[in-house]
Amino acid sequence: MVDQGFRIPTKKSLVVRKVRDVTQKQRERAQAATEYNVFSFPAELLVVDYLSDSGTTAMTDRQWAALMYGDESYGRNTGYFVLLEAFRDIFERGDARRKTVDLILRNERDVDKLMDELLLVDVEGGFVNGGRFQLMRPNAFIVPQGRCAEHLLFTTLRKVLTEHFPGSEYWIPSNGHFDTTEANIHSNDIHPVNLFSGDIFSEFPVEEIRDVNPFKGDMDIRRLVKLIDEKGAESVPLIYLTITNNTAAGQPVSMRNMREVREVADRYGIPLFFDACRFAENAYFIKEFEEGYEGSSIPEIVREMFIHCDGFSISFKKDGLANMGGGLFFKDRGVFHRRFSVDADVGVLLKEMQILSFGNDSYGGLSGRDIMALTIGLYEVVEEDYLRDRIEQVRDMAEKLALNGVPVVLPPGGHAVYVDIDRFFEGTDVRIEDFGGVGLTLELIRRYGIRGCELGPFAFEWDKKTPEERKGILNFVRFAVPRNVYNVEHINYTVAALTELHRNRERIPKVEIVRGKELRLRHFQTGLRPVYS
Ligand SMILES: *Cc1c(COP(=O)(O)O)cnc(C)c1O
Repeated sequence: MVDQGFRIPTKKSLVVRKVRDVTQKQRERAQAATEYNVFSFPAELLVVDYLSDSGTTAMTDRQWAALMYGDESYGRNTGYFVLLEAFRDIFERGDARRKTVDLILRNERDVDKLMDELLLVDVEGGFVNGGRFQLMRPNAFIVPQGRCAEHLLFTTLRKVLTEHFPGSEYWIPSNGHFDTTEANIHSNDIHPVNLFSGDIFSEFPVEEIRDVNPFKGDMDIRRLVKLIDEKGAESVPLIYLTITNNTAAGQPVSMRNMREVREVADRYGIPLFFDACRFAENAYFIKEFEEGYEGSSIPEIVREMFIHCDGFSISFKKDGLANMGGGLFFKDRGVFHRRFSVDADVGVLLKEMQILSFGNDSYGGLSGRDIMALTIGLYEVVEEDYLRDRIEQVRDMAEKLALNGVPVVLPPGGHAVYVDIDRFFEGTDVRIEDFGGVGLTLELIRRYGIRGCELGPFAFEWDKKTPEERKGILNFVRFAVPRNVYNVEHINYTVAALTELHRNRERIPKVEIVRGKELRLRHFQTGLRPVYS
């Protein structure tokens, strides 16, 4: 095993925020006042917050510096151009990037050069049309966050389907839909289906987490083919592949699986979309563990990954990119574009929806400052030393917990450690409808000021689902690690707290929902009551 003490440091902190000294009594008061809803608990009163890795990243000095170049113009702000170029660099060009943001950062004075290389460039045929092609056939949409991209995509899709194929039913399979993706699909009367690969819970020896990886985030290809054959290809408007697979414990997806899903998609003429949150972390796993990629650079692996999809939605709040941002992209004149441009160009429909909901296409609900930070972030997250630090920190945490006997999903994924709640409560009388995972999160806040997030029967609404749907629900508490925020002290404190709670798990309360049981995405909204036995 690698001695983790000998990893060469790759960064240092120059801005510091103090953690407040809060007592257990004070936290108890705050819990009661916020109806024991974990999302509603004030962050100011916490010691360590693993609620989400979304938008919680510490920005780098270069991102902060780039903020100063933010252009807040309403039409075609400068950031728009450098951001589109960054998208092309990262998702299409591999090592052959152009990095035209440098023209702005170094204050290029040659106006013709600026126009030729940045401001007036006509590009077509990829994920990010440019110049007049983006006007004629829009295919890249900036939005505030990932779910806005999902909203654009599925409401527009629903409109096209209803107008042209009224009365039919539709299914969208995925290796694991994220909760907002699932909810956006559902609320447009389409059925989301999870096709987890069979072996998420298979045993994995902790000693091997740095040597091999079974890519448990993969999609089950056999079930995918079966679903399409059963429902008919015309009833499957899209196939979705989430990389990394957040719902399946943040597990990576192999390049091989991307290739195989793409082959199925091609065979049936169905567009393959990525939910590309954490594409960079996924690329690092491929480099580390998939045969044939150990010599490839991260940018080249990312390029190859995206060759397989016809479009993607993404939250730029993930992967340590930025604190805010999202996007929706599809291949110019690709499968999606051809299939859903019936009377009108589907890109034009999406753009209308974007303008209606988030603002014109060159800012999409983001400030010019956000756009600059995001542009720089895109280049930083594909740096290998950053990714190594990131993934090793999560791996250290999972390893320490496993060695202390706390049941975690192994090997760990890229952004979070997932405690397996069914095994955590083994030997106690906690049943699935007692929401033991929620009880664990409440007790962690109360005693230690540590916040995790239940992603299981409570969040995925076990009690509202059919027996068939319940099979798609896994039972986890997730500890999502914000990027570049915490150090080894925070990890050790958390490991100690979780270990102590696991040893005393009979003291963890069961949980009842007292308000808002029926609400959609209820984990953000309901009121709860812990029941101590
Ligand atoms: C976070 C996330 C989303 C939604 O993105 P937001 O920016 O939170 O709206 C979608 N899919 C996955 C896999 C995510 O992790």
